Amino acid sequence: MSSGVHAFDVSIHPLQQRLGSKQSGVAAGCYSCHILHPETVSIPSWLSLNYSCTGSPQVWEARPSPGKGIGVFATRALEPGDIILAEPAIIKIEPPDFRDGAAYPLNSIESLLYSAFDTLSEEKQAEVMSLHAHLTPDEENQDKDSHMLVPIFRSNAYIVGKTLSELGLFPKGARINHSCRPNSSQVWIDKIGKRVVRAVRPIAEGEEIFATYIPLLRDQKSRQQRLDQYGFKCTCSACTQDRAAQADSDKRRSSIRKAFADFEPQLTLSVPQSINGRKKAEKNAAASVDLAKLVEEEGLADYYAQAYRVVALSHARIEKWDTATLWAHKSYELNLVADEDSPATLEMMALTQRFIQSWNADLYNKSKQEG
Ligand SMILES: [Zn+2]
Repeated sequence: MSSGVHAFDVSIHPLQQRLGSKQSGVAAGCYSCHILHPETVSIPSWLSLNYSCTGSPQVWEARPSPGKGIGVFATRALEPGDIILAEPAIIKIEPPDFRDGAAYPLNSIESLLYSAFDTLSEEKQAEVMSLHAHLTPDEENQDKDSHMLVPIFRSNAYIVGKTLSELGLFPKGARINHSCRPNSSQVWIDKIGKRVVRAVRPIAEGEEIFATYIPLLRDQKSRQQRLDQYGFKCTCSACTQDRAAQADSDKRRSSIRKAFADFEPQLTLSVPQSINGRKKAEKNAAASVDLAKLVEEEGLADYYAQAYRVVALSHARIEKWDTATLWAHKSYELNLVADEDSPATLEMMALTQRFIQSWNADLYNKSKQEG
């Protein structure tokens, strides 16, 4: 953009107006200049349609983080949903065999990497080469100056692209350190060609931004085993709790993982007809609320939308349309903030509409019976 004035990329779904959402957070950032605009923070998304962006200072800075090399810190207070940064890939490649589900074809992509790297300005090349890489024993013995690009890429690249068949490197986002209880989440948004990092909980000014590098529904020991590939010992708030709190956290994560797996086959819209089936579905609906509570208690914001979907579908199966609608909408809002076009967002939008219709039909039938 050359004018310096950007229109907000905001889409408002009729459901949000219909349900009177006050905290959708949709407009709490600008896809044009990719930063948060203070003037939109407390403004409902539907009002922000008329705002334009005149530029704003970035909301993060990279600086040393004790024991972690460099980290990324908030330069102002952030609310859940706020955009922290949105970054195009500095290098993006499509590995030849990646779609086949074969092993990561690192050797074959080396030449692709170097071709892409050679087109970068000196400044950008330096930015890439300043990133951290965890080296294999073989790489430790090689000439570091001429062989660092591959390990840097391997240590920091993410899957990107419309069909998720490409790999991209995001040097600014790569500075964000890991936590097993992260305060940000990242998603590739193909429409804007950027990886967007958002706050998933309130973040204070000066607080470090954390992302996760691994799946989080594992106990502390298993998480550390996964993190060994990155070459550091995790000292996040979840990994440095006292022994009792650690055991509780491990138990919660294991229960959450098991519950998600147990619920998976039951997440259909078919209403059980038998008395036993109905009883079981009622038990499951109650258990689904416990699952959402557990996920919130453990503070795993990346899993909130998935847990709320379970609650919504479990209540649809017992025709509790008011509860199903509210939880579907909660899940929809979280998905919408992350990526308005994702399959999850579209699914939750459709389910919310469907549940509202069933709810209306239910009320109509009841009033007819009464009247
Ligand atoms: Zn940790």
